Amino acid sequence: MQYQSEPINQEAVARMQASIDAHKDELCLKIAAYLKSNTVINPKTHALLVHILSNHPDWAKKSTNMNRIVIIDNQGIHKFAIERKEGTYEEIDYRKAIYGKEVIDNIKHALMRHISYRVSKFIEHRYQTHTNTCDYCECHLTPDNSSSMFGSPSFQYLAEGFMQQIELPIIHTRISNKSSKVCIASQAIRNAWEEYFEKHGNLLFVCRDCMGKHYYTTK
Ligand SMILES: [Zn+2]
Repeated sequence: MQYQSEPINQEAVARMQASIDAHKDELCLKIAAYLKSNTVINPKTHALLVHILSNHPDWAKKSTNMNRIVIIDNQGIHKFAIERKEGTYEEIDYRKAIYGKEVIDNIKHALMRHISYRVSKFIEHRYQTHTNTCDYCECHLTPDNSSSMFGSPSFQYLAEGFMQQIELPIIHTRISNKSSKVCIASQAIRNAWEEYFEKHGNLLFVCRDCMGKHYYTTK
């Protein structure tokens, strides 16, 4: 059966949007709490959620053939998903809808910065243990022709996966943007990220040629 979202009037939508823009952090915390304690969305909340989630940068693609928004349980964590008419589900991150792409990109930079010392350590280790041949073509690597990259998953994919998994709202990643250095302010998120990276991150030591060939093809 086709799900009927409750209609909302345009004035209310404008008021709601202004309120969302002014109170992103509060909204994010509220939604996190709501997600944690609910498994079913009532029609009134459904209309609100559609409005909020429709700000997601990939909304048009994700909401194709949408029946309704539901809450799914993904390994013990409640998440929003779009239920399609054909019965498939597509997860959607409310934080991306609330904060926008730029903030999310900043957070990815912060995540990258936080593990950059591990990347240097990895390269150092490869030279020290004389395993400095390219992981793809096995050519000999020197500091002049070597590069490191993320294998499968790519860094983008790894960071997305992490952001999807953490229960804490992004507010806790509070970026400090002095001297263009972004960092993650929350110790809890730093720890969770290191743990996630340890478990899922896959670094490769490659020559520049292979880096160019594989960089845009790995997921
Ligand atoms: Zn190579």
